Amino acid sequence: MGSGVIQIPSRLPLLLTNEGVLLPGSSLRLSVETPRNIQLVKSRLLRGSSVRSTIIGVVPSTRDPDSEAQDLPHLHRIGTAGIAVQIVGSNWPKPHYTLLITGLCRFNILEVVKEKPFPVAKVEQLDRLEQYTNGIGELNDLSQEFYKYAVQLVEMLDMSVPVVAKLRHLLDSLPKETLPDILASIIRTSANEKLQILDAVGLEERFKKTIPLLVRQIEGLKLLQKTRKSKPSDEKRIVAIRPIRKNNQILGRPLHLDALEQEDDDDGDDSDDIAILEKKIKSANMPEQAMKVCIKEIKRLKKMPQSMPEFALTRNYLELMVELPWNKSTTDHLDLRAARVLLDSDHYAMQKLKQRVLEYLAVRQLKNNLKGPILCFVGPPGVGKTSVGRSIAKTLGREFYRIALGGVCDQSDIRGHRRTYVGSMPGRIVNGLRTVGVNNPVFLLDEIDKLGKSLQGDPAAALLEVLDPEQNHSFTDHYLNVSFDLSQVLFIATANTTATIPPALLDRMELIQVPGYIQEEKIEIAHRHLIPKQLELHGLTPQQIQIQHEATEGIISRYTREAGVRSLERKIGAICRAVAVKVAESQHKVTKSSCTPVTEKEDKECVPEETKDESIGDVTDFALPPEMPIVIDRHALKDILGPPIYEMEVSQRLSQPGVAIGLAWTPLGGEIMFVEASRMEGEGQLTLTGQLGDVMKESAHLAISWLRSNAKKYHLTNAAGSFDLLDNTDIHLHFPAGAVTKDGPSAGVTIVTCLASLFSGHLVRSDVAMTGEITLRGLVLPVGGIKDKVLAAHRAGLKRVILPKRNEKDLDEIPANMREDLDFITAFCLDDVLNAAFDGGFPAESRHSILNSKL
Ligand code: ADP
Repeated sequence: MGSGVIQIPSRLPLLLTNEGVLLPGSSLRLSVETPRNIQLVKSRLLRGSSVRSTIIGVVPSTRDPDSEAQDLPHLHRIGTAGIAVQIVGSNWPKPHYTLLITGLCRFNILEVVKEKPFPVAKVEQLDRLEQYTNGIGELNDLSQEFYKYAVQLVEMLDMSVPVVAKLRHLLDSLPKETLPDILASIIRTSANEKLQILDAVGLEERFKKTIPLLVRQIEGLKLLQKTRKSKPSDEKRIVAIRPIRKNNQILGRPLHLDALEQEDDDDGDDSDDIAILEKKIKSANMPEQAMKVCIKEIKRLKKMPQSMPEFALTRNYLELMVELPWNKSTTDHLDLRAARVLLDSDHYAMQKLKQRVLEYLAVRQLKNNLKGPILCFVGPPGVGKTSVGRSIAKTLGREFYRIALGGVCDQSDIRGHRRTYVGSMPGRIVNGLRTVGVNNPVFLLDEIDKLGKSLQGDPAAALLEVLDPEQNHSFTDHYLNVSFDLSQVLFIATANTTATIPPALLDRMELIQVPGYIQEEKIEIAHRHLIPKQLELHGLTPQQIQIQHEATEGIISRYTREAGVRSLERKIGAICRAVAVKVAESQHKVTKSSCTPVTEKEDKECVPEETKDESIGDVTDFALPPEMPIVIDRHALKDILGPPIYEMEVSQRLSQPGVAIGLAWTPLGGEIMFVEASRMEGEGQLTLTGQLGDVMKESAHLAISWLRSNAKKYHLTNAAGSFDLLDNTDIHLHFPAGAVTKDGPSAGVTIVTCLASLFSGHLVRSDVAMTGEITLRGLVLPVGGIKDKVLAAHRAGLKRVILPKRNEKDLDEIPANMREDLDFITAFCLDDVLNAAFDGGFPAESRHSILNSKL
């Protein structure tokens, strides 16, 4: 079937490619990655009934930018209309499609009529071949000559290979005018040469352009055969053409044949490569089972034509097998004393954690094996969990590798894809082993609490196998398909919360809590670790910059609100960058002024420039002569980091009745939480807003019931002065910072206090925060996360913390200096809470009368 009978639409969606040139009658495998091309595939090829009937225009272009918003790249004037005969999609490593496209005929772009989301153009069909089929004169001669060379070329190939025989047959059965395009895409040509052939719209010109390429190929083959003769063993392997697959045979044409010469050229190297690979396999010291598989695969590889896609797959597989550290390991050199010193010098504070890590290491050393629970550090972000993991590796002299599990929801991320998949890959464990190159690294399973689940299987189940000492000596990655011994790997996990860790995994782990830091600890960490680290990163020395303690304190209290030190480190980084600019500028000035030859004229020119600089006045007014360190104090902070982000917030918000501060625990650490209440006329409805869980809602109802039953005692009235608080009254309770879901019973006391303030009209003390569960009878029950919560209160600059009496024991964990700063009130019942939350006790005025009546 000639292209003459093909009629293409007058408008075509355009697929842009800078990977190769599609010629009519041939096929091209294209990777679709750019937004425009992906859009085209999605909306034109994946929707609708038949992919094969959709004609698209494939146009060579310059590189298409990664964003749809950017302009179209430069398009070649002529393109090839084609149809997709195969579409394969993959999400790994990023979403992309691979298309196999068959070219039909050339077209000329008349006008691009639409650019978004993918270009569409008005086109004019070229290649109306029927005009030439009975070509005469020169054209006939050319086509004869071309045919002669084509036959010569094909006959130089190994006719016993079926595809070559088929090609020979096609030379006779296909219309002569289709041959230049087809052969040009088979033989070795550069992209530029292919473009020239694409541009050769006239058949005469096309024959003329292709004949020299054919001749070149024939000469190349002759030369090759000559050299092969001297290497008789290779003589037979002259050709390797990818077999024509069924789906490549659209329109009865030979499709998707690769450049022969290239393959032939590579052939020599390739067999060498295979031999080298084989040698490597033999010396890789792998277990017997793996060795057997490799030998089988290499045998297959030797028989496989190099152009088969499977060739590359198998080779990649074998290369991975060779690289894996089957028997390579580092020797542990654990010296507990040195380990203690190293842990101490790398990390400030964290005494409990460090102690526990040392114990763990000591036990491992004595038992000389790794069986036992996996350590899991649980704590807010930025408290040094990863960094302790790294130190453990360092003390043991082991390699360290971090596997981020956040968002992993596919079991094949852990265990790999089977090799039958397109783009299959080993899982992260095997990848990690390949990267570190030893079989006993420290693997840090980061954010194990953020594992997801999806239809592709549960990654937690795969991890279980990895972590289970009874099973992990024969862990099988789907891609490897042979087992690998993971028993020497030291696994450590980190998590922000244990609540979302699957129970089966939790069971395998020993949890070590890593609480947040108090202000003093953060200052020490900043000056001992973070500042030196950032200075080095920015190429600064302590002679150039000095960050004062008051500045660090300022950053911590007014620019960050976090349990860990991650933002603190970032802010210090920002300061270093600003200073680095100053230092570089002043160095530039110095070199400029000291290097400039001092002629009078230039001297004069220099002066005004310098004075000009100063007269403008430096916004960041910390530019000093270069030899003096730039001192970062409170003022400099403001210039560099901008106005403080957190300031005065607390007292401002507590300037009205009906607001109280609670303490909440979140996976990111403790937080202070405002509770606001207001009342309005209504029918006794309670409205709750701010993303609350059920337990929180129950607490609110409990609180209201308790207050209603105690309204008289505390002199609480509604707007009309009645003790029936809900009479004609609606209440709205709001928990701001609504993006975070809040749940748990510990807000009970705060809700009571907030409502007591609303109904009594008294302000809650602005320096007090509280936590505790309540009962209907007004008792205060203990809650969790006390240390984190107290840290949060301290961070926010509050002075008094009310907590349940039965949590008193948890106060032992609070550092002494913080205990000095804070006033802890332990409450047995709600009376105690209210008394501590309001200035002068509660209810303020009536206190005397109650006392009097008691007397
Ligand atoms: P996590 O894994 O807990 O989220 P990281 O280990 O990534 O936190 O720590 C963030 C940064 O803070 C790192 O640069 C780390 O070195 C530093 N850091 C945290 N805690 C300490 C500490 N106690 N002493 C020294 N540096 C610390």
